[in-house]
Amino acid sequence: MKLKYVADCRQKGIACSASLDSVSMTRYRCKACGNVTRFDVTVSKKTKSFYHFSIGGDLRIESEEVLEETVDEVSCRWCGHSKSIERIEGLE
Ligand SMILES: [Zn+2]
Repeated sequence: MKLKYVADCRQKGIACSASLDSVSMTRYRCKACGNVTRFDVTVSKKTKSFYHFSIGGDLRIESEEVLEETVDEVSCRWCGHSKSIERIEGLE
């Protein structure tokens, strides 16, 4: 079910891309090793979705609105540190 949702999302470019955009607006830098490209990011989200069931019971999620989004943890893929991560705001 989850995979189908992701596929639908990419094909149609619907609302779920908004949540991806808001995450990508913030960049990170690891002060320990200088990494600026690879991180493990743990995000908690509260979303409201439009579930559209067919008569046969197949589910299609047609849109998703992010009500709340919190970045819980960012850790560096290179050195594994999460305490030396610096946020870089507002850069593309
Ligand atoms: Zn690092």
